[in-house]
This record gives sequence, C-alpha cells and structure tokens, in this order.
Amino acid sequence: MSLLTCHHVTKRFGGLVAVNDFSFDVPEHSITSVIGPNGAGKSTLFNCITGFYTPEEGKVIFRGEEIQGLRPDIIANKGISRTYQNIRLFSSLTTLENIMIGMHGRLKTGIISAILRPPRTRKEERWALEESLRILELVGLRGKGDVVATNLSYGDQRRLEVGRALASDPKLLFLDEPTAGMNPRESDNLTNFIRELRDNIGITVVLIEHDMRVVMGISEYITVLDYGAKIAEGTPREIQNNPQVIEAYLGTSGVEGAQAALAGQEA
Ligand code: ADP
Ligand code: MG
Repeated sequence: MSLLTCHHVTKRFGGLVAVNDFSFDVPEHSITSVIGPNGAGKSTLFNCITGFYTPEEGKVIFRGEEIQGLRPDIIANKGISRTYQNIRLFSSLTTLENIMIGMHGRLKTGIISAILRPPRTRKEERWALEESLRILELVGLRGKGDVVATNLSYGDQRRLEVGRALASDPKLLFLDEPTAGMNPRESDNLTNFIRELRDNIGITVVLIEHDMRVVMGISEYITVLDYGAKIAEGTPREIQNNPQVIEAYLGTSGVEGAQAALAGQEA
C-alpha cells in the first residue's frame, strides 16, 4: 500500500519550472531514493511535500488525505518529518535539548501549565526526558546528551538531525542528502542506521542522495529527476541500466563513466 502519493505536482519559481508534473508513489515501509543532477528539483520536491512550498498544481496525498498547501507544522503533526540539506540544529543547545525541541508537537503542555506546573505537566516532562533519551540511544548518541551540538563531530551532527526528525514520531521520514560531507565509513554507518530504523521501527524513508554507493546499497526504489521532471523510476538494477539515466549522468566521462558512477564505483 502506498503511504504517500504525489499526483502531477508542479512548482514554479517565476519562469523556472523547478518541479514539473511530478508523480510517484511511496510504498509503506519502503526505502526510496530520489536522485538527479544538481538543480534537478529534488529539494524543492521535498519542500512541496513537507509544506515549505505550496505547489501551483497537483496533489500530495498522505494516508489518503490531501496535504498540499498545509502548514509545515500541521504536516509534521500528521506524521511526516524531515532533515535539511544544510544541517539545522540549535548549535548552542545540547544534544538532548535539540531532541526535546523536536518533540514539542507531541506534548500537551500549554503556556499556563508550563508556568503553574501541575502534576500532569511534571509527568509529561519526565516522559519527554525518557523518550528523548530513548531516541538518543536509537541514533547512536548515548552518553552525548549533554554535549553542545556544535561540539559534536560532523557525523554525529547528522545523526542528531535524524534524531530531531524522529522525535516527532513520524511515519514517513525525508532525508535531504544525509551523508553529504561524510567520509565513507561515516556514510556506511549512517546507511546501516537508516536501514535498521526501517527494519526496527517500521518507518518509511525517502532520501535524496548523491553517493551512488549509498543509493544502490540502500534503496528498494529509485526515482530520477532531471530538470524538474521524473525521467525514470525502478529498482537499483533497472536504474543502472536505464539509457535516459545514463545520459543524464554522462557529463564528460562517457557511457562507461556514467555506468560506473551509477554503480557507485570510480570510473
Ligand atoms: P536540487 O535539490 O535537485 O539540487 P533544487 O530543488 O534546490 O534542486 O532546485 C531546483 C531549481 O529551482 C534550481 O534551478 C534552483 O536554482 C531553483 N530554486 C530552488 N529554490 C528556489 C527559490 N526559493 N527561488 C527561486 N529558485 C529556486
Ligand atoms: Mg537539494
């Protein structure tokens, strides 16, 4: 069953069609990668789904409900969470505090209760702390709860981004270039972690990723964007052998280079 469907989504910036009549289905519990050259419209597509942009045309359907045009916080409360291409953490707050901020949509405490702190509020605070520690452990940052975010290694900051996104208890997680800037070991770790998340907590994952080794290793489905339009979709094997995809990745390195790049090998 598909958890999310995009139906003829178009997003324009002035004369530029950043996402062009895009449709796809994301099956529940799957891992799907969105790939394509720089400027292909991948991040814009994520922004249309998560409510940061309203598409001019088309529908985004999540669990049977149209969500295009809804506010990002409302979409987040429905069960869609995301990370950003550029890490967005509260850099002067601790690891644990960053995760607790990600939880706020799940808490009932309003401003009055936060001041009066009745037993119900204190109970919820305890629960939030326990839940945050659980997420910390889940993303492999146990023992680092008191570390100020800016002092974490780059790989750990990426993990914390995922932790913050998981704190809202999403059904569907969008990751925008989660391994960007990582060394091969860090990206292998993160890849395994993403797969475990899906296996262990049943979350559905859509990621934008440039590292073909990661893409081909982790994805069940791949969707290829070029100039805002979907040019191919299929399994990793189908994508590696798709002539249109090879052409989009040709560059200067020729067919063999493109095929090697798509296979995640050095040309
Ligand atoms: P990708 O993530 O695939 O690299 P983007 O979605 O960031 O691509 O960008 C797709 C196209 O839309 C690019 O040509 C980019 O310059 C343009 N674009 C993205 N965001 C904006 C914006 N806020 N205003 C105008 N143009 C934008
Ligand atoms: Mg992008």
